[in-house]
Amino acid sequence: MTGELAEAVVDLAAIAGNVERIAGATSAAVMTVVKADGFGHGAVPVARAALAGGATWLGVTSAAEALQLRSAGLTVPVLSWLHGPGTDFAALAAAEVDVSVAAPELLDAVAAAARGTGRTAQVHLKIDTGMSRHGATAEGWPELVAWARKYEREGVLAVRGLWSHLATADSSPYGVTAQTAAFAEAVAYARDAGLDPELLHLANSAAAFTAPHTHFDLVRAGIAAYGVEPVPGRAFGLRPALTLRTQVIMAKRVPAGTGVSYQHTHVTARPTTLALIPLGFADGIPRGVDGRAQVLLGGRRLPIIGRVAMDQCVVDAGDSDVRIGDPVTVLGPGDAGEPTATDWATWADTNPHEILTGIGTRVPRRHESKGTFTADVRVEGALPFPHHGRKRP
Ligand SMILES: *Cc1c(COP(=O)(O)O)cnc(C)c1O
Repeated sequence: MTGELAEAVVDLAAIAGNVERIAGATSAAVMTVVKADGFGHGAVPVARAALAGGATWLGVTSAAEALQLRSAGLTVPVLSWLHGPGTDFAALAAAEVDVSVAAPELLDAVAAAARGTGRTAQVHLKIDTGMSRHGATAEGWPELVAWARKYEREGVLAVRGLWSHLATADSSPYGVTAQTAAFAEAVAYARDAGLDPELLHLANSAAAFTAPHTHFDLVRAGIAAYGVEPVPGRAFGLRPALTLRTQVIMAKRVPAGTGVSYQHTHVTARPTTLALIPLGFADGIPRGVDGRAQVLLGGRRLPIIGRVAMDQCVVDAGDSDVRIGDPVTVLGPGDAGEPTATDWATWADTNPHEILTGIGTRVPRRHESKGTFTADVRVEGALPFPHHGRKRP
């Protein structure tokens, strides 16, 4: 560590290897989703590693995220998918960023921006196939398609993609089947109405490994690229890329009956050594995990006790010989017995995505490429299967 009290070390070779595994599980092209600063790992370095691993697309939510990739010199196809009336569609068109549109009003805004810049906007129309989140409803789809076709005829935009998002790929194959059928219907309608999209896409990480019939031309994988197994109870050989490290900044012996941290929710049952670590809920340690969560200190898993505070929390080191400066691993790939993001998600009753994206900006990210990860692209249960779509070069 470079004088920092904590750091998140991101293994870019692991990310490249994970993307290679995703690519090995599909005949479609791979989009690596680098939204939310690459799920907390650093969007630009992650993007470069993902491209090295075989991704040909990058996915983000916002215009700012897309433009950040362009500013870093990344020229590959980028799709951005959450927009509002105030989105700077002109900047996105000028930067050749593809945009998702799910409502006619926003299609008007995209068309107006394209007219202003003299560029043909590349649009992916989103249909809601059952998640009830983003996307046009089945009732709204004909109108969205009609407007898109009109603007396409005028030459201001091109419908490059049709897409949707799965709600239950990690849990219910029935939900996936129903959504895939609804998607196929929406695609057929759009084709009948004159659209000729180059790309159909539906799958997320879980579907990339388990549901080849959802792959079409492109899979959009986020969490798997970061090395978190996307389907509970199954392993596809992914390697967690991020290790969150810190150190003990105070160690003290206390007697039995000592109340620890705010509200004294924990009272020591015996004399023990308390080790203080300088990470709290502002750094992504969930506040309510005391009594369940553990860290790796001195080669052992030791519990966090008492309320996690904004900036610090207390570890019960028992009778271990703990000193100021001793290294602590909060989460990582698990090689040395440290907890994983998936362990933390269980303790905090959330998903690993929230754990990883919750690591605060106060924790510096350091990127390294250990090169120890060898990607074996054979994937259990996912190959072989028929080709489901055109692969982009
Ligand atoms: C975040 C996101 C993804 C990636 O999902 P994972 O489950 O992390 O692979 C894909 N598509 C959309 C629309 C998303 O918002």
